[in-house]
Amino acid sequence: MADWRNIYKDPWTKKFAVKKSPLFFDLNNDIQDGIDIESRMRSAERFVNKAIEYGALSNRRQLLVIGAGVAGVSAAITALKHHVPVTIKDGARAAFDLQKRCKTRWLHPNQYKWPAPEYEHNQYPWLPGLAAPLTWRAAHSHRVALQWNKQLNSLRKSRRNLLTVQYRTPVRIDEPTLLESYIKLAHELNSDEQFGIILACMGTPEKASLKPFRGYRFWESDRLREPGCGLSDKSASVLISGGGDGAQQDLLRIALKPHPLKMILRLKKTIDHTAAGRQWWDRLESGITRMNRRAATSLSPATLRDLANFYDSIFRQNPSIVSDLRETLQDALCPHFERLQITFSFQFPHVPWGYPLNRFLVELLRNSIMERFQHEIYKPNLKIELIKPHHRHRCDKSAADCYGRSHEIHFRNLVNNSEFNGYYHIIVIRHGLNLPRLDMPHVAA
Ligand SMILES: Cc1cc2nc3c(=O)[nH]c(=O)nc-3n(C[C@H](O)[C@H](O)[C@H](O)COP(=O)(O)OP(=O)(O)OC[C@H]3O[C@@H](n4cnc5c(N)ncnc54)[C@H](O)[C@@H]3O)c2cc1C
Ligand SMILES: [Zn+2]
Repeated sequence: MADWRNIYKDPWTKKFAVKKSPLFFDLNNDIQDGIDIESRMRSAERFVNKAIEYGALSNRRQLLVIGAGVAGVSAAITALKHHVPVTIKDGARAAFDLQKRCKTRWLHPNQYKWPAPEYEHNQYPWLPGLAAPLTWRAAHSHRVALQWNKQLNSLRKSRRNLLTVQYRTPVRIDEPTLLESYIKLAHELNSDEQFGIILACMGTPEKASLKPFRGYRFWESDRLREPGCGLSDKSASVLISGGGDGAQQDLLRIALKPHPLKMILRLKKTIDHTAAGRQWWDRLESGITRMNRRAATSLSPATLRDLANFYDSIFRQNPSIVSDLRETLQDALCPHFERLQITFSFQFPHVPWGYPLNRFLVELLRNSIMERFQHEIYKPNLKIELIKPHHRHRCDKSAADCYGRSHEIHFRNLVNNSEFNGYYHIIVIRHGLNLPRLDMPHVAA
């Protein structure tokens, strides 16, 4: 039988999870394989399959998972398929806590594959015959969490003897003694005195908000989908900072009634009836596919610049088609959108990388706002230094309390190092993720 220690040498295993200590792997550290839900699910599945292949997990070497998010539960389900006993521990009160608490975000399993043809399918896996640890259909985030919870709960019944799930059990893996006790625990749970693997699937938290200001976190239910961002009786200045996919998603949630996938289909239909329209759309899709391929090998500033230039040039080609697209987009704007003064700022000369679906819509929206309101929403090379309350408001309560109130923002222009202030009622900070650093003590295998 293969020596399970070979798992440490396997290049594929290293791609999915980082070894932090003997038999202790972290699925989230140094993420190389993508952070979206599908990537997390697949990394967990592939890692566990490898561990089983090497004999590091078996019916006598159990799996201990820390974190009952989509990754942890996918790892558990994969192990159960091979009759590996599993314990899941999570500090939260329920599984899929992030998605469960958010009622205002629409999740679609395949939309980010656009322009690949499977983007329209609203179920995962997109072909019914394909297998996946967790399956799901497009829905609001909390409803997607419900779909996953049903699958987990049915396993808790049918595999009662193999699966233990413990909530409200935070695992403090930063403390050496606690880590050792968990490894001992795993040790004891195995009848032949061998233990299997501990897999940390603790997620990638969002970077902290800029204190003292409090903004809605990405997975919090917020008010951006309400007409005029919920401030329909007055004009409001809106700042969305970051420029990446989170920022792009939120700009689109503020601006457009339909969800991005529906919007794309509507736009395509608008120009699909003429040969020139179909040609324009083909050029768009093939250009994006080409840029995607290039980004996969080198995501350099030059790639981002060329992507920005690509959008500029495609919007200059065939003005009458672009004008039809703008009209369709403007018909889909949220009520009271015209009362919002939008700024979309980022620290770089060009918009950072994001999924093509959101990026294309953001570019078309920018183009439409420029055309209709003579207002450029893109503000590149801007770093936020400080956000503080304006007037008599204190930012010490909650995101709901800061929302809609005027705040003063200190910006720095990174090109000429100048500083200036601006005032905004709605501030959306999407500055990326804090990759966790787990510095593990050495424990002998
Ligand atoms: C800001 C942001 C935006 C995103 N946008 C998208 C998107 O639009 N589309 C998409 O597909 N994906 C998106 N993702 C990615 C998606 O959220 C994640 O890929 C998915 O939730 C990650 O699943 P996970 O299981 O790795 O982590 P999580 O869902 O974060 O689960 C981690 C679990 O571990 C638990 N935990 C953490 N620490 C401990 C501990 N010490 N002890 C015990 N339990 C612990 C937590 O309670 C949680 O239940 C986004 C992620 C973030 C952070
Ligand atoms: Zn405030």
